Amino acid sequence: MTINAKQYCEELYNRVVKRNAHEPEFHQAVQEVLESLIPVLEKNPEYIKLGIVESIVEPERQIVFRVPWVDDAGNIHVNRGFRVQFNSAIGPYKGGIRLHPSVYIGIIKFLGFEQVLKNSLTGLPIGGAKGGSDFDPKGKSDMEIMRFCQSFMTELCRHIGQDVDVPAGDIGVGGREIGYMFGQYKKIKNAYEAGVLTGKGLSYGGSLGRTQATGYGLVYFVDEMLREKGMSIKGKTVLVSGSGNVAIYTVEKTHEYGGKVVAVSDSDGYVYDANGINVETLKQIKEVERKRIHEYVKYHPTAEYHEGCAGIWTIPCDIALPCATQNEINENDAKILVKNGCKAVAEGANMPTTLEGTKVFLDNGILFGPAKAANAGGVATSALEMSQNSMRLSWTFEEVDAKLKDIMINIYRNTSKAAAEYGLKDNLVAGANIAGFVKVAEAMKAHGVV
Ligand code: NDP
Repeated sequence: MTINAKQYCEELYNRVVKRNAHEPEFHQAVQEVLESLIPVLEKNPEYIKLGIVESIVEPERQIVFRVPWVDDAGNIHVNRGFRVQFNSAIGPYKGGIRLHPSVYIGIIKFLGFEQVLKNSLTGLPIGGAKGGSDFDPKGKSDMEIMRFCQSFMTELCRHIGQDVDVPAGDIGVGGREIGYMFGQYKKIKNAYEAGVLTGKGLSYGGSLGRTQATGYGLVYFVDEMLREKGMSIKGKTVLVSGSGNVAIYTVEKTHEYGGKVVAVSDSDGYVYDANGINVETLKQIKEVERKRIHEYVKYHPTAEYHEGCAGIWTIPCDIALPCATQNEINENDAKILVKNGCKAVAEGANMPTTLEGTKVFLDNGILFGPAKAANAGGVATSALEMSQNSMRLSWTFEEVDAKLKDIMINIYRNTSKAAAEYGLKDNLVAGANIAGFVKVAEAMKAHGVV
């Protein structure tokens, strides 16, 4: 019996929507991937017959749990925690933990699904997962953060392990939170399992270069994407949304490559600095003082602060690098960017562009680096951290950074090659989905129906 791949994907998508009702971000991520896979499934119908496509959109395991904690005034709060272990065909589950009030199962599921294909693209042996909580870390004291992280880990520790599932940071989770979670894990397990978390501090098993990796990796990817087209970052005007971990190191590396980042943002508004964003000021405000981005103008009075984060996309630029959160560039924002002469967009955040926005970029010949490929440097370096933990040694910053650069260049090349192979030249969205999928699908095929 011949199978119509397009019809199969449409029916499967409808089943996913029905089975995962009220989870629009997950539907969006699945829709994009299934559409990209149609030509692959036409050529390889066994991926359908063996149930691989159906399995890949269904998490292996979803864990939802209660996270009670006590604030400084003695009040008790109860948050909800999540870990979605999506796919372990090519290695232990791996993916970050997000702490943000917008977190619910649909966000964690979309992130876990994207992570499966992203981790596959890195070429390293890691499966996909994601976790988090609707806890809001903003405005909390150090002790409140510690008590929350300990309570979160008290439950999570039963489900993870260095060969089982290895969480890391994401929005709202940096070195401080990973430290508290690691301490609690170590205490409960009574074992020093260094590889159970990544993004650790350097004094207890962290890797040099991990803090910078997602931002630096994004710029290495953009550099390669532009180089292939005879262009470069040098002299280009760049917008970077967000002002967290990914944004800060994207700004730093862009400046090293001769580009000028003129704007950054947070969820309240954006800062425009025609002289170029000062990265040391950015680090001081966000990493040291943990304050809001409007503080920037106190240090640089000629810069402007504007309320409303979406306004950042109205600034004329050559390159736009969304590094804040999902769906921050919609169809209208994309049209404005195109109209203002933007030539390249690459996603530092996960799924920051809506499906309609992505279509605008692709239809207008904008070079577009999708998140799965462009921001994979973070998880790739986490995998390098796991390797160092297993070997009980530490590589230098230069060694890690050189490996990261090689990985990002390879991801660009493999993505671009996969797109061309299926007649979709320059469509890196399809290329990333295809290249990421095929490796996982081949492993699943080898493992049988499990
Ligand atoms: P951080 O918590 O360090 O920073 C997040 C930034 O995004 C902050 O500036 C924050 O502003 C802004 N932001 C968060 N939510 C929203 C929102 N709903 N609307 C507008 N702005 C928002 O997180 P990261 O830098 O680590 O992560 C940023 C993105 O990159 C996420 O999509 C994450 O999944 C992705 N990513 C991160 C990796 C990593 O290694 N850290 C790896 C790969 C992807 P505010 O302070 O106002 O909330």
